[in-house]
Order: sequence, then C-alpha cells, then structure tokens
Amino acid sequence: MTRILVTGGAGYIGATAVDILMGQGFDISVLDDCSTGHEDDVPKGVKFVKGSLLNREAISESLEGCSAVIHFAGKSLVGESVAKPELYWQVNVVGSRNLLDVMRENKVKKIVFSSSAATYGEPESVPISENAPTRPTNAYGATKLAIDAMITDEARAHGLAAASLRYFNVAGALQSQRGWLTERHDPETHLIPNILRSTPANPVKIFGVDWPTVDGTCIRDYVHVIDLIDAHISALRVIKESSHEIINLGSGTGYSVREVLTAASAALRHQVPFIESARRLGDPAVLIADIRKAQKILGWTPQRDINVMVADAAASR
Ligand code: UDP
Repeated sequence: MTRILVTGGAGYIGATAVDILMGQGFDISVLDDCSTGHEDDVPKGVKFVKGSLLNREAISESLEGCSAVIHFAGKSLVGESVAKPELYWQVNVVGSRNLLDVMRENKVKKIVFSSSAATYGEPESVPISENAPTRPTNAYGATKLAIDAMITDEARAHGLAAASLRYFNVAGALQSQRGWLTERHDPETHLIPNILRSTPANPVKIFGVDWPTVDGTCIRDYVHVIDLIDAHISALRVIKESSHEIINLGSGTGYSVREVLTAASAALRHQVPFIESARRLGDPAVLIADIRKAQKILGWTPQRDINVMVADAAASR
C-alpha cells in the first residue's frame, strides 16, 4: 500500500486531500504545525506529526514509510506576506528546502507541490498559460516561484519526479464522514467565506466597481477544492523521474465578484447584503487560467461550477 505524506494536512485544502486520498485507499501521514490548520480536521487513523517544516527531525519522522509527498504546508496570506516577507521566505522557502533535503536523504522520489497563480503576478493577457511571464507582485507569489525553481533543480540533479500545481481561486467544501471540511481562516480575506458571513450590519465589501470588466468588478477563476484534489491525485500518477511539470489549475472560466454574489444569493435564497467599496491594493482586474495543459497531462477537467462551489461552502457553515 502506498503511504503519502501530506504536509499542511490540517489546513483547508490539505485536510480535504487527506480525506479523499484515504477514501481511495492510500495510507496517510500528516505533518502540520497547526499555526493556521486545525488538528480536529485530521481524521483518526492518520499518522499525525505536529511539527514545522523548519524542524528536519519532524519532517524525517513524518516521512517514515512514505513513497510520495503532497506539499501544501506554508504561509498563504498575500497581505501578510507584504508586511512580513521574512516570515514567508523562512517558512515557505527554507521549509521547502528542508523538505526536499530530507526527502532526498530518505529516498522519497515524488512530490506534488501546491504552487500558485500568484507566481505570474499581473498578467499581460488572459487566459494565463504556464508559459506566461512570472512576475510576482508580493512575497507570497515570490516564495512560491522560488520553491518551483528549487523543485526544477532537484528533479534535474537528483531524479525527483515532481509537479507544481499553480492554483487560481480555490473554493467550495467537502462533506466528509466527520462533517464538513471547509475554509476556516482567521482573519478571513477570501471572497466566498466573506459573502457567506455577510449581514446587514456587516455587509461584504465589493473591492472596486470601476474595473475594466463587464460589470466593473474583478474577475477570478474559481475551482472547487474536490476537483483540485482530484488533479493532485492524477499528478501523483503521471509524474516521471527527473521531470518537473508546472501546471495551472483553475476552471478556465472567469466570474466577476457580482456574479459570485448572485450565485451565493441563489444558494442562500436571500439577497446577500453588500456595499461597494474602494479597490483593494494589488488586485489585478482579471485572472483566468488556461487549463489546457492540466487537461492534456492530467486527463483532468473540473466538474463543479461556481453554483456548486458556493452551495457547498454555504452548506458547510
Ligand atoms: N473581494 C471582494 N471582497 C472581499 C474579498 C475579496 O470584493 O471581501 C474580491 C477581490 O478583490 C478579488 C476577488 O474578490 O477580486 C477574489 O478575492 P480573494 O481574496 O478571495 O482571492 P484572491 O483573488 O485575492 O486570491
């Protein structure tokens, strides 16, 4: 039986991965320091090492018996990365360096890494393909790009089989046997959770209504977390020794903030209260993934649209 180490397995996306992988018969180990993840989201029966990527002994302990790693652990708040870049370079880049080193020492030869569309920065054109220029506009994106480069070198020099999956906007939730696995960030900055907690007294803010888009609000490419994890499992199966594939993961379709609000209002069966507000610093107008490479290499097509994403996120609350 294959045992997989899921780093960050107590977080929103990582815990969802653990659940789906277990359902497919994989044995799972989790490494998470629970700085943002929730230990209660890790199921019983999983080997859980509570520790940091900055602790090589913890990595080594968590890797015992594993033949592959899905690497989600890391800092992931764009705003925080601008305020505290040193934290992002330390945890994300030094942490991933440690992971690659300990994997090499333990002859673990496969990794699927959660990279980000933030590696591209402000796009010249959309949809964004993997060949687009990489000009991250914040430390979060810069650290993801640096890790991608380290993995490329590791594959070339030491035979690692690797994929970096560059996520666009991940949304939705998974109903597991233990209840819903969903986004539980504090502070919450993401659009869909903010829409779902919007009240007349505390309405969600639309960040900018004067963007050069159809309805003046920003357009993003949302992908359901279950579809996203399915792509990781496909990646684990197709990656080859000494090769590093970089692959965008989105739905290939853009939705404006107003369209997401409309979908959420339909799912909740009431008009979500909102106010129009100023643009958020650093937001590009439109981000949409070109997912042809994912479709070709992973044989993957996302199955769940924005209505399913908001309905699942709403049901999970
Ligand atoms: N957004 C918004 N109000 C919020 C949070 C986000 O209008 O309370 C907008 C944001 O400007 C962006 C989109 O929703 O255009 C998605 O933002 P999110 O923070 O969810 O993800 P990002 O695209 O920044 O990774």
